[in-house]
Amino acid sequence: MFQCFKIVLGKKTHLFSFVMLLPMIALFLQCKSLQWLEQPEQQPERTQLGVSKTIEVNASLVRLIYFTPKDRPFKERITDQMVTHMHIVQTFYADQMENHGYGRKAFAFETDAKGKMVTHQVKGQFTDTHYLYNTTKKVWTEIQEQFDVSKNIFVVIVDISSSSIRGALGHGSSLLGGRSGILWISKSGMQSQVIAHELGHAFGLQHDFRNNQFLMSYGSYNPSSTQLRRTVLSNESAEFLDVSRFFNSNRTFSSHGPPQIKITSSLEYPPGSDKIHVRFELFDLDGLHQARFHTNPNITDKDFLAKFSRGSPSFKASKKLNGSNISVEFIYRLSKIDVHQLWLQVIDSQGHFNMESFSVSAQD
Ligand SMILES: [Zn+2]
Repeated sequence: MFQCFKIVLGKKTHLFSFVMLLPMIALFLQCKSLQWLEQPEQQPERTQLGVSKTIEVNASLVRLIYFTPKDRPFKERITDQMVTHMHIVQTFYADQMENHGYGRKAFAFETDAKGKMVTHQVKGQFTDTHYLYNTTKKVWTEIQEQFDVSKNIFVVIVDISSSSIRGALGHGSSLLGGRSGILWISKSGMQSQVIAHELGHAFGLQHDFRNNQFLMSYGSYNPSSTQLRRTVLSNESAEFLDVSRFFNSNRTFSSHGPPQIKITSSLEYPPGSDKIHVRFELFDLDGLHQARFHTNPNITDKDFLAKFSRGSPSFKASKKLNGSNISVEFIYRLSKIDVHQLWLQVIDSQGHFNMESFSVSAQD
């Protein structure tokens, strides 16, 4: 996040003054993945032949937690608002999936016997000041003591005296290769669009700046308004979510483990090249579903705000896959940025995914 800040300060030719950008920075630095939360993938037990045993799992739910420090009261109004937003967001995903031809499918909430979304109230062990720094780490420790976080997505409203969390409205990240996820929402982040975007991260989607109407972009920026519109789930995102464990509540999943990714093209390119062909070999016993190619956001991205996310993956292209062992190729156009970081994310037919990163550089 600090890196992003330096990039902004270094560019004096922006259309907007730095002062104008300050609130934007707060708005947009929502989404860096939480590295410390990434836990090692639990690999299924291997047999002698190197083929793993199948693990059967149920579809996963979205669960809601309302967290308050011990010196702050629960406010029913906040949980009511949040439940309303969750319904709006669920409808948004169902509409979008239907538009893309996948039927009205969306994530499922945890519900009570009457079908109402459950809100878990968690009272912190400490007072407000304790949670103002390293907020997510401290709250996560307490949540893990009370919930099994190895499955399901936890949406956590953090009601501390600060209206943002680490300077952002919210943060979302997926965990354990698509089996679980976490989403932090600050009090000012209680907006349907922020929740929908962060949930996208929790489902496993990365930023996508190809079109600033896409849900996984930073939205269209209108200098006269702080309203952002991110109203479209891209085709490629819908294709990914079609096999997500969160979007198929009435099926069970079996898994032999996440897709295996091997880069087969050179990590060095001849000086002066304007593009490189990047090839991968993919393997997954459960059947491959989609390969997603990401690079660093750069100045050719539609929205200059994309640059705030430098250093993190930005979606470029995907391929629909069918089979267990497939070679894929993507063309990477070399932009003027000096760090060429590539990411390949692959999801299998069982909603299990894997993402690996590669650096490419010019030959000496
Ligand atoms: Zn984001």
